[in-house]
Amino acid sequence: MHKNQVRNPNAANGSRIRSIDALIVGGGFSGIYQLHKLRSLGYKVLLVDAGSNYGGVWHSHQYPGLRVDTETPLYQFSDPDLWQDWTWRQRFPNGAEIRAYFDYVAEKWDLRRDTEFNAFVQAAAWDEEEGKWTVSTRDGRRYKTRYFLPCLGHSAKRYIPDWKGIDSFKGALLHPSDWRQTQPDLSGKNIAIIGTAATGVQLAQALSKTASHLTIFQRTPNTALPLPNVDYESPSKRPSSAATRHALAARLDSFGGLNHNALPRATFDDPPEIRLATYEQLWGPDFLLAPYRDLFSNEDANREAYTFWRDKTRARIKDPKTADVLAPMAQPYAFGCKRIALESDYFDLFNEPHVKLVDLKATPIEEITERGIRTAAEEMDFDVVVCATGYDSVTGGLSQIDITGANGGTTLKEHWKDGVKTYLGMCVSGFPNMLFTYGPQAPTAFCNGPTCAELQGDWVVNLLEFMRENSLTRLQAKGESEDEWKEKIWSLANATLLPKVRSWWMGDNIPGKPREPLIYLGGVPAYYKTLNEVAADGYCGFELS
Ligand code: NAP
Repeated sequence: MHKNQVRNPNAANGSRIRSIDALIVGGGFSGIYQLHKLRSLGYKVLLVDAGSNYGGVWHSHQYPGLRVDTETPLYQFSDPDLWQDWTWRQRFPNGAEIRAYFDYVAEKWDLRRDTEFNAFVQAAAWDEEEGKWTVSTRDGRRYKTRYFLPCLGHSAKRYIPDWKGIDSFKGALLHPSDWRQTQPDLSGKNIAIIGTAATGVQLAQALSKTASHLTIFQRTPNTALPLPNVDYESPSKRPSSAATRHALAARLDSFGGLNHNALPRATFDDPPEIRLATYEQLWGPDFLLAPYRDLFSNEDANREAYTFWRDKTRARIKDPKTADVLAPMAQPYAFGCKRIALESDYFDLFNEPHVKLVDLKATPIEEITERGIRTAAEEMDFDVVVCATGYDSVTGGLSQIDITGANGGTTLKEHWKDGVKTYLGMCVSGFPNMLFTYGPQAPTAFCNGPTCAELQGDWVVNLLEFMRENSLTRLQAKGESEDEWKEKIWSLANATLLPKVRSWWMGDNIPGKPREPLIYLGGVPAYYKTLNEVAADGYCGFELS
């Protein structure tokens, strides 16, 4: 099995073809929302998922320290029937709590009767004559469906770099997506973590508590911000029903589908003492989510924010050389233009004697050896190497399925070989009746997951209803709609500092991947408005027949 492939315990299941109106792939927030909605409207729907339960990444990723970076009550469905009977235990719930939430939703919405698990979809082919998709799984299951609805999330295909010698390592080499299957006990072990982004930071905090030695390999510093977690054991600390209702309703008015928005003023509108007081007040997630309005567009403003972050962070790190690597004096890249992690004690770990930092910018990895890792400076032995090295993000999940459209059998991967093309970040010309969510050229990584699941999910459901009411059976995006959407994606990105920074949002993390903005950067309210306008205009930009 290839190292970038997640273990998949599928059992052969015969070759019976199951016929449905809509096949949903993926049991995360988007997938289960669409199953619930479409089924309530009388569609024959089936949801399939490669894993063995709902939750998407929350199910496939069960590594220590896993926790959501979005606070409750925002990180849940807005259906009062759900939230009124569910009590969150923490403001920022951990992985186990989110998995329990998915089980709760599955029961309330009675999802299991229309779900097949351990079904890794490997191919989907459009049949023009029938006007249907034939979809097949790795273990031989087959489905015939009018609508093909991939809800794969942005981290469906993992990525481990192809370091020299990687197959020779005799210890345990793990990706964060391996924990669910292997449940490794790493206490007392000598551990390496490669990668210091959202996942690496969480893993480092958790594994530092039990490892005998922990070595963290950093290529780029993460400008992590404090996680203001709150234990909700005491009811007085929990958001009230009124606050929950209000927060959930306000999500569509916020740039990130949360209830935070940028300040109305620019950084240098405030005199220095007010600016400092404002930064202090924002310190935490709001430093990123509710900043001065020019944080992402003005380099001087951005540097000012970085300088504040740097000084706060360096004050926690005892060794000045370590501080130079974690929070350099010179700004390494535009603040917020790579995904910021939330941390509790990440920067304090490096004051502990059993935690070591390796600066990969100065001493890159040259080889994985039988016993550990050799950098340009030294060779180190490890029991375990954790590759928190991310994903073929946003597009990898779709591209790894052999999706063959209407145009002479062109695959989606071929269609995207020079860069992504979509209309509205949900459909592709030449691929009729396929609508995906939380994918490329949509708000995706810049939008709270449940908000996006509902926003895009409702739009997909309404489009299918429009088709049914008008006796239409085939929809596809026009080629020119894709071109215009791509132009919009670029112009929104070019109004920010994001394209100047190397990140997975720009496709930079995967060798050979075209460099382009993978995310719609106009914010949730503008995206929502566009979707509504397209619908009100009889789904302009589509060919419907
Ligand atoms: P990631 O953001 O892609 O980060 C990968 C890390 O591995 C980076 O530090 C990267 O360094 C490093 N890396 C990659 N290739 C390398 C190489 N060849 N040599 C050395 N280092 C290398 O992946 P992730 O941390 O798993 O996060 C992915 C996304 O998942 C997040 O952005 C977030 O959307 C989501 N997530 C969310 C949560 C949450 O809600 N709490 C938690 C975890 C993940 P460079 O930066 O230099 O490329």
